[in-house]
Amino acid sequence: MRHRLWQSICRNIIAPSRLSLANVQALLLPRGRSLPVRRHIAAIIAARVQLIAALFAVLVPLGSVADLLVFDFSTAAHMIGLRLLAAGLFVVLAWPRELSAAASYRQAMAMLVILLMVPPLFHLLSAGMLNAAAHDRTQQLLAQLYGYLPTVVLGGLAIFPLTALEIGLLALPVIVTAIVTFMTQGIQFNLVEQGGTLWFMVMMLGVAMFSGMSQCHYIASLVHRAMHDPLTGAFTRQSGEEALKLFYQLSEISGKTLSVAFIDLDRFKAINDGYGHEAGDQALRDVANRLRSSLRRSDFLIRWGGEEFMAVLPDTPPENILNLFQRLRDLGLGLRPDGMPLTASIGIACSSEADITAWPTLVNRADERMYAAKQHGRDCMVLPGGQLVRFLP
Ligand code: GH3
Ligand code: MG
Ligand code: MG
Repeated sequence: MRHRLWQSICRNIIAPSRLSLANVQALLLPRGRSLPVRRHIAAIIAARVQLIAALFAVLVPLGSVADLLVFDFSTAAHMIGLRLLAAGLFVVLAWPRELSAAASYRQAMAMLVILLMVPPLFHLLSAGMLNAAAHDRTQQLLAQLYGYLPTVVLGGLAIFPLTALEIGLLALPVIVTAIVTFMTQGIQFNLVEQGGTLWFMVMMLGVAMFSGMSQCHYIASLVHRAMHDPLTGAFTRQSGEEALKLFYQLSEISGKTLSVAFIDLDRFKAINDGYGHEAGDQALRDVANRLRSSLRRSDFLIRWGGEEFMAVLPDTPPENILNLFQRLRDLGLGLRPDGMPLTASIGIACSSEADITAWPTLVNRADERMYAAKQHGRDCMVLPGGQLVRFLP
């Protein structure tokens, strides 16, 4: 009952796509997210920081006109100096740059922190002088508007895909600025005035958190959909190739062998021809589930083509391949609609083989061995070195 209530809340109120407890944790803390999700979020944060910085690089100097019209020359000159300094920082942030592939998230967060620090710093460096220079009502009004600058940051946080913890941490400078201003100006605590401002800040923070988390969830579900084949749940060819490339590079760095298994189902067309496409689809789903069950947690499965799969096996030297063979033989690939076992021809290749120097060669070698397995009568696996192992005795 409680489970169904939670599911209903997730589906109808929080998000239309599936939201598990693990996913909720990933919305509260920036942990447990896949690399592609992190990269997408980093790219979005960096792009938005650059857009806002470009906008403010133009708007901030324009405000100098108001300073010159409202304040005495020396106050206005001080404010214009600060404005030019801030505009300079915004130009640096807005400058086109590529995020580094390895540290894109850290880089995007550093850009965001710099952007968010500008308004509170601007406020700290100008508040005392503005209050001293504000004699008439227009001057007081403008000084008051400057005073809202740090609070604007809290609202601004709402446009970034951030977790609750990140929003809380990024809001800290604003809260510290508010406290410092409060203390340095010797303001007496007044429940109506300061309590109202405090409540407003808490509300802004709450809205920013909700907005940031729902953006994170939306991005994560879109990335998940784009990366996985809807029929089998395996990685799509494109995302699988990206992951394979990355794992190949990692294997070169670590010196650990990366192996792949090219799996082509035997006489699959006959299932479609004899029992219809829906029966073929059901068999594909079943095979993918069984293949996944035969893999270790560190392995992953790609749907390479129609009825072809690629299992990627990090840290698997050739002598360990027979473990996979045994698990596949024990579990099987399910039954054809006529009750006969569904079989596959499998080609194995390992990055430690002498003439394999890039991931496409690894794939080609596994593909060639899969064809060799077909020629040897199907329902078998061809290992590096050409050794053949049969599933059925
Ligand atoms: P072989 O043992 O030589 O591999 O024979 P095969 O019939 O498996 O080989 P072939 O490549 O001729 O046929 C593959 C078939 O897989 C053709 C196509 O109808 C079927 N197929 C590919 N994708 C899907 C799919 O998404 N759903 C269904 N139901 N069938 C698919
Ligand atoms: Mg095929
Ligand atoms: Mg086939």
